[in-house]
Amino acid sequence: MEIILGKSAGFCYGVKRAVDGASQMLEKKTPLYALGEIVHNKEVTKSLEDKGLIFIDDIKDSKGDTIIRAHGVANSIYEYANAKQINLYDFTCPRVLKIHNIALEYRDKGYYIILLGSKNHPENIGTISYCGLNSSIVEDITELDNLLLKLNNFSKVLVIAQTTFSLKKYFLIKNYLEKNLNADIEVVFKNTICKATEVRQKETEEISKDVDFMIIIGGRNSSNTKKLYEIASENTNTICIETYRDLDLSYLDGVEKLGIMAGASTPKESIDEVIKIVSNYKEKVYKK
Ligand code: SF4
Repeated sequence: MEIILGKSAGFCYGVKRAVDGASQMLEKKTPLYALGEIVHNKEVTKSLEDKGLIFIDDIKDSKGDTIIRAHGVANSIYEYANAKQINLYDFTCPRVLKIHNIALEYRDKGYYIILLGSKNHPENIGTISYCGLNSSIVEDITELDNLLLKLNNFSKVLVIAQTTFSLKKYFLIKNYLEKNLNADIEVVFKNTICKATEVRQKETEEISKDVDFMIIIGGRNSSNTKKLYEIASENTNTICIETYRDLDLSYLDGVEKLGIMAGASTPKESIDEVIKIVSNYKEKVYKK
């Protein structure tokens, strides 16, 4: 069995920066709080917890120095921390900060802002707080018909996207708005999908078109992992696993070419473990 591993599999720049930053800080001070999971991967969060990191879901539960993860947070979190004199160690990915700055700039210029992405995703809960009252999060093209009526009250519209939004969906929505938005409305599109996401999605598509079976490794709560699964599933039989423990090797029966890709929150060790197991499986088959 031939195994093709995606070159872009595993931690992205922003997640690595936050995980490394938290690990380094834990060497100097504990306890340390983190607002939300630093990375959607149980093994990594467990190892950080073992070193003294306390995960909280609400800034009000912080009793000291607190880490902000790569997804970023709403403006109200900075205000609360400032009022309560909580030190924040901010590992918001610079690419997310860039979106916050675009939102602030266009909000101040009077644009209605459409943020493409999942309504409950922490990154978007943060980003929408910088967009002002005239803004909406849109997950799917089907939501646009209702929004078009509302947009007739505005002369300028900005469209931005969650860093891990599907590139394919972004262009579908862009085409739809270009065709259906009132011609008098000025519309600015900023493709804020992270390059790392774009590269990973494109590579997943290419590999999945070339293999009999695909394994996507990533956390169950990881939105970028779910999108990789969706992309690969369109082209080949695909499973999504969090670690090698979820792997049912019977799926590999008869597979000649296997593709492996991993989400942005999957550490290299998890990928290596899966590769080791599928490689050994091949040996067992040959020994029969
Ligand atoms: S996916 Fe991109 S924007 Fe999101 S944390 Fe990683 S590098 Fe930053």
